[in-house]
Amino acid sequence: MMTKILKNQFASDNYAGICPEAMQALQEANNGYSTSYGDDPWTAKACDALRDFFATDCEIFFAFNGTAANSLALASMCQSYHSVICHETAHVETDECGAIEFFSNGTKLLTVGGDNGKVNLDEVEHTVRRRTDIHYPKPQVLSITQSTELGTLYTPEELVEIHGLTKRLNLKLHMDGARFANAVAALQVHPKELTWRAGVDVLTFGGTKCGMPMGEAVVFFNKKLAYEFEYRCKQAGQLASKMRYLSAPWLGLLQDNTMLKHAGHANACARKLSEKLSKIAGVSLVHSTEANAVFVEMPEETIAKLRDKGWIFYTFIGSGHCRFMCSWATTEEDIAALVSDIQALIS
Ligand SMILES: *Cc1c(COP(=O)(O)O)cnc(C)c1O
Repeated sequence: MMTKILKNQFASDNYAGICPEAMQALQEANNGYSTSYGDDPWTAKACDALRDFFATDCEIFFAFNGTAANSLALASMCQSYHSVICHETAHVETDECGAIEFFSNGTKLLTVGGDNGKVNLDEVEHTVRRRTDIHYPKPQVLSITQSTELGTLYTPEELVEIHGLTKRLNLKLHMDGARFANAVAALQVHPKELTWRAGVDVLTFGGTKCGMPMGEAVVFFNKKLAYEFEYRCKQAGQLASKMRYLSAPWLGLLQDNTMLKHAGHANACARKLSEKLSKIAGVSLVHSTEANAVFVEMPEETIAKLRDKGWIFYTFIGSGHCRFMCSWATTEEDIAALVSDIQALIS
């Protein structure tokens, strides 16, 4: 018997199930015996597919989740006495339980502000230049999130500016791309324009929120930084013995432009939801809807009633407003149902 435990929800894109293409790829990989720990044909093909996707040679590793991928990536870019500059709402700062500091043996996160979830470059420069003495954790990396925690995007032009700054300040550049596919789909540029051509040294590329069962790829465009990374993965419990099940879903998503189609669908759903919600009196949009997240403000009373009605959504992200995320699985009916419930409960 099939058990469907929840109605469709907008709490997070990780509430959605596995997309058919990832499932199919998993099923195809589930074919008899194979060599383990990444020494299998699916993993080799997934790495090649990622190199094709970015149109460059790069080193690739697969981790179970984003926290591990971010932490190990940043640990590989830093010594323990270094610091990583990030936005105050960055997932690495607010939602990873100190994993960056833990896996890097003490590397410190230094936060900066900035409008729309994007780092303010003057603050980044100030954070680097305000101290040059030995008592200060030496700034080594700028970490940015694309698309951001507030559902906004760094444009290619903004990335060029960031690249200029990181070069000038001698910082390495890390990108948390838990929702990188949403950014590529929204900006409609080649993935290389948002990564290695923009000076990104290491990208944490999210699979989970785009329809995989689990898994993120750590992509080293700066291959020197990947030195002995496999040992970090193993030590951190991130070397899957049946690696083919972590890598094969990438094959399903990277063929026929599937990943960008799903991400584009999620973005389009968010745009629709955003337009409909902003027409309701009493609801106001708090961040512009540029990827697959919609942030709105509404009366506390409506929030409570909406939760009583069975809707699950977060109010702890970023500025503390209501966040509704769309995914590959979101439907027109889901959007209509949420909009009509909000409309009914607010009046
Ligand atoms: C979801 C997410 C991650 C990864 O989170 P895990 O729960 O560790 O997989 C990383 N960064 C951002 C911005 C995210 O939204």
